[in-house]
Amino acid sequence: MTPAGPSNFISEIIREDIGSNKYGGRVHTRFPPEPNGYLHIGHAKSIWLNFGLAAEFDGKTNLRFDDTNPSKEETEYVDSIMDNVRWLGFDWEDRVFYASDYFGQLYQWAVQLIEAGKAYVCDLSAEEVRKYRGTLSEPGTDSPYRNRSVDESLDLFARMKAGEFPDGSRTLRAKIDMASPNLNMRDPVMYRILHESHHRTGSEWRIYPMYDYAHGQSDSIERITHSICTLEFEDHRPLYDWFCDALGIYHPRQIEFDRLNLTYTLLSKRKLLALVQNGHVRGWDDPRMPTLSGIRRRGYTPEALRNFCGAIGVSKTNGIIELGLLEHFVREDLNKRALRVMGVLRPLRIVIDNYPEDQVEELDAVNNPEDESAGTRKVPFSRVLYIEQDDFREDPPKQYYRLSPGREVRLRYGYFITCVGVVKNHAGEVTEVHCTYDQATRGGNAPDGRKVKSTIHWVSAAHAVDAEVRVYETLFTVENPNQTEEGADFTANLNPKSLEALTGCKLEPCLGDVPAMSFYQFERLGYFCADPDGAPGKPVFNRTVALRNTWAKIEQRQGK
Ligand code: ATP
Ligand code: MG
Repeated sequence: MTPAGPSNFISEIIREDIGSNKYGGRVHTRFPPEPNGYLHIGHAKSIWLNFGLAAEFDGKTNLRFDDTNPSKEETEYVDSIMDNVRWLGFDWEDRVFYASDYFGQLYQWAVQLIEAGKAYVCDLSAEEVRKYRGTLSEPGTDSPYRNRSVDESLDLFARMKAGEFPDGSRTLRAKIDMASPNLNMRDPVMYRILHESHHRTGSEWRIYPMYDYAHGQSDSIERITHSICTLEFEDHRPLYDWFCDALGIYHPRQIEFDRLNLTYTLLSKRKLLALVQNGHVRGWDDPRMPTLSGIRRRGYTPEALRNFCGAIGVSKTNGIIELGLLEHFVREDLNKRALRVMGVLRPLRIVIDNYPEDQVEELDAVNNPEDESAGTRKVPFSRVLYIEQDDFREDPPKQYYRLSPGREVRLRYGYFITCVGVVKNHAGEVTEVHCTYDQATRGGNAPDGRKVKSTIHWVSAAHAVDAEVRVYETLFTVENPNQTEEGADFTANLNPKSLEALTGCKLEPCLGDVPAMSFYQFERLGYFCADPDGAPGKPVFNRTVALRNTWAKIEQRQGK
């Protein structure tokens, strides 16, 4: 899979439109989030596509808040969305708009449609509207109010706006075709009554436009050329076109693409909100969340996300992408840029019996083997060290080549050491390992040419920084968390082991006071990123992704 630009079937369409001079050669897209939650990785695909396509053709992209539903929308979401889009590396310049800016114009256009006999006020309840709509196999039935006079509809619509009627008592509907095979065309609701305060317009409006009525007209007002949206809107396109045509206004072109779905991941704002509200995660930016705020805190980089989007591309059928592919792009990016350090997550004390008690040496360590310009650093070495509990076995199984009684291994950037004994507690657990070192192997090689089968990482006990390290697993235990056992809630699939907070981890001294979001490779363990919860001398790190190359496994499985 080669990461490409947004070049795809949509850019082909745009190229044709430029060729036929359809929009005077212009390309103008928009990213239209509803501010009812935080953006997630699926939105990243839409952002990448809208901004990327415009950039490909030297066009423009607007950021538009599709804020037509006051009951679920909040300024907090508006702010987080702007922050996320910028973080991803895209710029709407001065073009941030709100559908609510167009409420006045949308109202006038609704009046125009009533006057033209193309819309009417309907007194059916939501329940009745549903009943009259019919089904895929049966046509709908006309509303008894469908043929009320233009004047009566105009009067009622004005009074709906003035707040005379309670919520849900009336709607404004487009008069299209109750027998249309497309349910969206069966006299769709354009306006509903909602006595609810809006995050921008306050209590000015008592009626709010529906998505289908607001979206295309907002595109039209902004002179969008290509209105790119996800596949579920394909069936809404005839309605999108109908409103523009019925109003006789500038008519953008709607093009649909496939939604991003990821294994082990939920991308539904409603369900993500429930996870936050019910305390299943620590907030919208919990590093386990697929939100851009969460992913960012986890240590995923915008570069990795953009490369991922480029690699998955777009198509006309919905599928599901392996989470491992996303992790592959995260590793690929961090491998190039992350400084290497040593950290021990589950410490085991090592005493080097023949190393002078008060001696401290500064050993040279390479900062990034992938990038010579990153240079080297000094790492303190002394008589008492920590290594990973996993790197010692008193009774090693076959093919276990790390430290065990009598075995010699290399300490990264240091010496060869040989295990000569262990100390145990009352429970019989090894609490300390005694070793000897060979002074002649400084730097990691034996002058007599003898070899060791493994190299392990370590931290000098006297110099180590104590840290909390948060290790994550997938938030859900099943590949498709949308599928649940009958009667079970989606939270039944939550992974109880999704967060393991390890305290008392021992890190190299250079990690004692680093800015939040600094990222590193902890040698042999994975990529880690400093969490804002940390303080000088008390760092907290998130494991961004393990080193294990899941992607190689996926490729293997797929027989590539
Ligand atoms: P809602 O259920 O609240 O409508 P939504 O995920 O569709 O949720 P929007 O704020 O309407 O959220 O989405 C903004 C844009 O992002 C839309 O154009 C939408 O099609 C696109 N988008 C949303 N989810 C995905 C996804 N998983 N993959 C690709 N694009 C997406
Ligand atoms: Mg939506």
